[in-house]
Amino acid sequence: MSESGGDATDRVPLPPEFLRQMAELLGDEFSAFLASYAQPAVSGLRVNTLKLSPVTFRGLSPFPLSPVPWCAAGFILPPEQEAGRHPFHAAGLYYLQDPSAMAVAELLAAQPGERVLDLCAAPGGKATHLAAQLQGEGLLVANEVIPARAHVLTENLERCGATNAIITVEPPERLAARWPGYFDRVLVDAPCSGEGMFRKSDTARQEWQPEQVAGCALRQSRILEDAAALVRPGGMLAYATCTFALEENEGVILDFLARHPEFASVHSPLQPGFRRGILGDVGIRLWPHLVPGEGHYIALLRRQGDTPPASAPARRQQMAREAVRAFAAFCAENLRRVLPVQLYAVGAALYHLPPDTPDLAGLRYMRPGWELGTVRKDRFEPAHALALGLSAADAQRTLDLAPDDEQVRRYLQGEVLDAPGEAGWLLVTVAGYPLGWGKRVGRQVKNHYPRALRWPVK
Ligand code: SAM
Repeated sequence: MSESGGDATDRVPLPPEFLRQMAELLGDEFSAFLASYAQPAVSGLRVNTLKLSPVTFRGLSPFPLSPVPWCAAGFILPPEQEAGRHPFHAAGLYYLQDPSAMAVAELLAAQPGERVLDLCAAPGGKATHLAAQLQGEGLLVANEVIPARAHVLTENLERCGATNAIITVEPPERLAARWPGYFDRVLVDAPCSGEGMFRKSDTARQEWQPEQVAGCALRQSRILEDAAALVRPGGMLAYATCTFALEENEGVILDFLARHPEFASVHSPLQPGFRRGILGDVGIRLWPHLVPGEGHYIALLRRQGDTPPASAPARRQQMAREAVRAFAAFCAENLRRVLPVQLYAVGAALYHLPPDTPDLAGLRYMRPGWELGTVRKDRFEPAHALALGLSAADAQRTLDLAPDDEQVRRYLQGEVLDAPGEAGWLLVTVAGYPLGWGKRVGRQVKNHYPRALRWPVK
């Protein structure tokens, strides 16, 4: 153990003021907390239950897995597995996530058919978890205020096959003014001082400043205020951070509860290793010296009363006949079932509007729903998101490859494949799960895997 706080000497030292604050907060437990920094960060994988069950994944997994006790779809990965560069990742079979972060959606527990808002959603760990809980039924609004991060969020939700998600790019106050009482469940996974990132990231250690904590707490209180307005009476509000400072956790929640008697803290049962909040008995603490994970604070609040979610003006649109015809022709030629979609056009792009989709006019968004494809003249070109939201059984033609087949790597690198068969669009699948589109002409399958997602050629 080094003087700098329990970790290897080639790391940036832990900030001394952080260590002082943690010693004060943890008392007798401080030495165990400090010792956790000598251990590597814990990597986790959450099976995407929109696509397959944890049991099925265990049968396919190339990685050794041990269960995360508080998340049925969660597993701990041994170090250095490169699970982000595996065809199963490209097929959206799992999401890589710190096991402690998996506790957040587990606690919020979205139910199929509900309206759910993730207010600070990028890169999408919790949003993809919430999408899996909804099982395609109901509405997920995933919001991220920073446009570049909203792009990553979009990629992640699309890879995971979320077909009922809208991705907005707005500051929370604009959504609060627009959709009061509209949601059954709202998540604030707040921007924070990131003390739970210190095992993973030297940059997080370098950037931490004691003054940052107070600034974060102020911003968190503002976001929570807006989030509260979006929850229906009887609905749930979850607040989470990946930091340990009292001010950003129990401090924010106690201050919020004092100003909002219409909300009450929910006393969730504790999993082994979880601790109650340090002050005022609000929230749950996950500590890196007590559970396999980097640490989190989570508070679950219920809004008193019981009122159905508010209504909002629905979106209406007169669809161009050519667009409807082109999409119908594509489905008839290339799919085996009629997709239960409500079409919506933005320029040449066609989307499916999830049920209960409110009008988005005047709001910035990345996706108004599930992207289906683009109408070019009278032809329809399917979107990558369509492929990832379908199952292999939906397609007339598939090219199914084994995960270790050289053609999988070639497909993901953007190469043309050689595979004779019936001409037309086909789903390229790995172990039966869609990776993306190809279009066969003669023996050749033209590659439609998006350029931005292609694996680099070494
Ligand atoms: N929920 C995400 C996940 O599980 O992958 C992680 C969210 S991260 C902790 C917090 C997010 O809040 C960041 O993406 C950040 O860009 C966003 N953010 C920053 N400032 C914000 C603000 N003022 N209001 C809302 N979100 C903000």
